[in-house]
Amino acid sequence: MIDETAETNALPVPTESYVSMVLLVDDQVLICEAVRRALEGEHDLDFHYCTNPQDAVRVAEELKPTVILQDLVMPGVNGLDLVRHYRENAAIHAVPVIVLSTKEDPQTKSEAFKAGANDYLVKLPDRVELIARLRYHSRAYVDHVQRDAAYAALRESQRQLMNANLELERLTRIDGLTGLGNRRYFDEYMEAEWRRAQRTGNPVSLLMIDVDNFKLYNDTFGHLAGDEVLKQVAGVIQTGASRPGDLAARFGGEEFVVVLVDTPLDGAQVVAGRILSDIRALSLAHRDGIVTISIGVATVSASAGSGPGSLIHAADIALFRAKAGGRNRVEVEVPTD
Ligand code: GH3
Ligand code: MG
Ligand code: MG
Repeated sequence: MIDETAETNALPVPTESYVSMVLLVDDQVLICEAVRRALEGEHDLDFHYCTNPQDAVRVAEELKPTVILQDLVMPGVNGLDLVRHYRENAAIHAVPVIVLSTKEDPQTKSEAFKAGANDYLVKLPDRVELIARLRYHSRAYVDHVQRDAAYAALRESQRQLMNANLELERLTRIDGLTGLGNRRYFDEYMEAEWRRAQRTGNPVSLLMIDVDNFKLYNDTFGHLAGDEVLKQVAGVIQTGASRPGDLAARFGGEEFVVVLVDTPLDGAQVVAGRILSDIRALSLAHRDGIVTISIGVATVSASAGSGPGSLIHAADIALFRAKAGGRNRVEVEVPTD
């Protein structure tokens, strides 16, 4: 004997305890009553009927049946047309339909299946067979709906995971204090742009930027105030490196770098001069004046054999010269391989 209770409990995650919602569409009240009696006592079969075929689609939309029993011959409406309407209706298109016909006729059967019916029974069907088929089709439908829902949930969680990964990737490239690129990203970027410049022969420029007397600033105003200055300086640098392809990054401590792709030396000097004066224009109070920066500029047309290290080294030398020359200025160095 089949244990119906166990069968029901075995269903995966139903929103509520699993009940088949049966909708019979038949103009004859007598038939509806006969089917109702046949299903009486089957507590997992919730039975509803509709005797006006004009209302059938609307009733089905509202009731959300898990299986439809559909009469074929009704006044003014062809049952097969109704089946086609169900199939075209987004809310109920997948609900299984069992056609209830008065005759066992191959032609009618064939048309019913062509119209989209899932099963075919001759009135009045044997009670046991009717119940078995109602349960079977309901179960298949509910499984189908749950699979769809699970699939949609899977897609959604995949989407969220992808976004989280993108954000994570972004964070690995960013300096936490200033929001500029971090040292790691700068290294990667420099390497890639160097290789590109080798292919194209276009110049790459690098600005090495260092805040003047910053130790003194920290000693005077404290590290937190120092951090605020770094953020402000970073903001100016970011604005100064405005072309697509330009990269502003924090090199370390109070040192910043700007990579200017496809930019010759004179262009790089213009950018450096603008950043220098924009920092001065901030007028951030220092102990004996305002916060200033020094910038070393270097440009190369990448040649085979050399690497980005030679460009960084040249910019470093230029920066050193700017410091030695009194700070708050731009100096240039021509790199040697
Ligand atoms: P110079 O003009 O020669 O560059 O002098 P300087 O004092 O700026 O140079 P130095 O390299 O001696 O000092 C750099 C200081 O920058 C040391 C450190 O206190 C400060 N510093 C580095 N990183 C940070 C940071 O993340 N936050 C703050 N507040 N200070 C930092
Ligand atoms: Mg320094
Ligand atoms: Mg400094």
